[in-house]
Amino acid sequence: MENEDHMKWPDGKKFAVMVTFDFDAESMWFSEDPTAMRKPSILSQGTYGPRRGIHKVLETLRYFEVPASFYVPGWTADKHPGAIEAVLKHGHEVGHHGHMHAWIDPDDPDGEIEEMDKGLEALKKLGVVPKGYRAPAASSSEMTLELVRDRGFLYNSGFLDDVYPYRHTLVDGSKGPVELPFHWNLDDSAITYFNFDTQPGIFPNAHILDVWKEEINVIREWGALANITLHPQLIGRPSRMTLFKHFLDYIQSFDDVWFATGTQVAEAFETFENTQEQ
Ligand SMILES: [Zn+2]
Repeated sequence: MENEDHMKWPDGKKFAVMVTFDFDAESMWFSEDPTAMRKPSILSQGTYGPRRGIHKVLETLRYFEVPASFYVPGWTADKHPGAIEAVLKHGHEVGHHGHMHAWIDPDDPDGEIEEMDKGLEALKKLGVVPKGYRAPAASSSEMTLELVRDRGFLYNSGFLDDVYPYRHTLVDGSKGPVELPFHWNLDDSAITYFNFDTQPGIFPNAHILDVWKEEINVIREWGALANITLHPQLIGRPSRMTLFKHFLDYIQSFDDVWFATGTQVAEAFETFENTQEQ
């Protein structure tokens, strides 16, 4: 898509911001290392999300009057229904994020379908029919987009190939879901996730805020979409809540920002798409 052809935002706003959360809880830890299921203190890092982090996050979103999208694994919804109900009570969107947070394996199509359907079932028990799908850890197979479309999702959020929403075309040429692309530059796990095996250390807020502000500045210049991806267990930690507030403050200093949920952005894209087709 040429630069000039990209979608414009509602109400004459210059750029769009989605504040999103992958509400993994313990599944973040056992999906990477199955032995963590038997290591309660490792898992407890994830428990911080539903127990404490989510409530701090919800309070802050209410204070800033920002709508958000929460992508929830089915396992997490089953284990922590009260936390998901709190998210819904605050009026935020709940989307699909797998079941056991299993990373999609292209060699295991049955496993991928099971994760999809069990996740849908668990959300349904809480009265949620999700419109958005985000695969754990941006994993995928050649089947994923077709599965997402066929299960009735409006949008997918897991590709990293643009800064504007677009429509997927499937291998057979048919219409796929709307894509709301993201990038690790606006993902808290890329900078605040600490793990003895993989992470070099803990970065100060100023470092992270610098990366995030630079990204927002150019997204605004380009009239693009910022798809911010956070985790209640990471951003909900005491010092990181300060980071979150400073970041929201910074974004709200622009009067031409459109804060929206994933569904609102995808619907705005569909409206744009219809005007292009006429
Ligand atoms: Zn996740």
